[in-house]
Amino acid sequence: MNADFTGVADQARALAAGTVSARELAQAALARMEAQRPLGAVLATRAEFTLARADAADARRRAGETAALLGVPVAHKDIFVTRNLPTTAGSRMLDGYLSPFDATVVERLDSAGMVTVAKLNCDEFAMGSGNENSAYGPVRNPWDAARVPGGSSGGSAAAVAAGLVAAATGTDTGGSIRQPASFCGITGIKPTYGVCSRYGMIAFASSLDQAGPLARSAEDCALLLSVMGGFDPRDATSAQRPDQDYHAAMLTPREGASGARPLQGLRIGLPREFFPTALSAVVADTVRSALRELERLGATLVDVSLPRAELSIPVYYLIAPAEASSNLSRFDGVKFGHRTAEGGDLMSLYKKSRAEGFGEEVKRRIMIGTYVLSHGYYDAYYLQAQKLRRMIADDFRACFSSCDLIAGPVAPTVAWALGEQGDDPVAAYLADIFTLPASLAGLPGMSVPAGFAPATAGGTPMPVGLQLIGNYFDEGRLLHAAHALQRATDWHLRHPPQTTPDAAAGGRA
Ligand code: GLN
Repeated sequence: MNADFTGVADQARALAAGTVSARELAQAALARMEAQRPLGAVLATRAEFTLARADAADARRRAGETAALLGVPVAHKDIFVTRNLPTTAGSRMLDGYLSPFDATVVERLDSAGMVTVAKLNCDEFAMGSGNENSAYGPVRNPWDAARVPGGSSGGSAAAVAAGLVAAATGTDTGGSIRQPASFCGITGIKPTYGVCSRYGMIAFASSLDQAGPLARSAEDCALLLSVMGGFDPRDATSAQRPDQDYHAAMLTPREGASGARPLQGLRIGLPREFFPTALSAVVADTVRSALRELERLGATLVDVSLPRAELSIPVYYLIAPAEASSNLSRFDGVKFGHRTAEGGDLMSLYKKSRAEGFGEEVKRRIMIGTYVLSHGYYDAYYLQAQKLRRMIADDFRACFSSCDLIAGPVAPTVAWALGEQGDDPVAAYLADIFTLPASLAGLPGMSVPAGFAPATAGGTPMPVGLQLIGNYFDEGRLLHAAHALQRATDWHLRHPPQTTPDAAAGGRA
């Protein structure tokens, strides 16, 4: 079996009915990962550990346990530390690193009985938009192996889209769940900052980093998020709220809605800045047709404005590198990770270990970050960026006085070709324009499959995602709207043609 496109909820039902065992699901996922190695999505598996966890899940079911996710396979972005599988963060710096503990998100999914089958490739320390910055090679897009899967959770999105596993974890600092979900035609949600614990998530930019699920549907995301989220005393920025049942919230009928018009009364704001003239026409058309579908389901579209959205790029690309330069100072060749083999004094040990361990993009950001935090520049850059960040959040607050959700594209284009951006990091930064605003404001955002951009000459039709942004802690409403859309459409059920490993390696790449 080369792919399995059933979702989490389907697999959970089959497990509950006893028509499949957790061991069978885990074995099949491991076999697919082996067969699809050329996709580049998988960094590590450990069959004996996975099968032992699957057997434990089967035993729990036999003993009468009915937890929804018990026995369903899952894979983790390699930015979450795990005790039983190595963790690299996509960096040479952490090659061979084995953590003494599990990240909270991993621990919570594990306690719920999900069976970890793999660690998945990502951009180095989650810095990137195409998964081309991993020290372990790029990941390919399952729809077209010559294109990127998006980043930085590219391995997670590709693994789900290719049917290796029904769900995976990801992290989103400036778009890294939403954008790869969009590029790979799957569903992903970045919750409100503080919903998922960052404990054990290797830090990139601490005030922005947030974990979330990538899966085939809003329903599957809701099932995972209910387990992943929740207060954790080990993360000082974790939101102190009771645990949420997002699946129940997703299914709860909203005010005034009827079965035929489940989104009756929902006001969706369209910021004019999200539909610039420069937006690729195929993306704009696809997003607009999904918006018409939401209208048919009862939603009303209203015009809103995020006047400072375009400043998100400079603001984010100051704040994120500033925090990264500080977070990554712990990788010094002494306490963690790679240590140079060359001798010398302490200073040269630091310098050589870091020069050898980090890749180009990471070094670039450490240098920018150190610069903007340095004496004399702090006020001019970092402090200015913090002030603008607040103003961007204020713009959202103003929008939410006249709408319940905000919608727009996830990215200005479909997935680009591997290598297309060459040596131009700014080209990738600019492509983050629609995901950064919600990240800076700490708001929840989703990418929901919205259709396909027609094939260009010799190419394949490529998936396009619709971005939905909610107010703080309003994940239930976001998931409700996405679920209604998915009940009325089948974009999320499409999957790439089943590829053989050779084809996945990309004749055209
Ligand atoms: N593309 C953005 C960056 O390169 C976002 C990455 C992320 O969300 N981890 O920083």
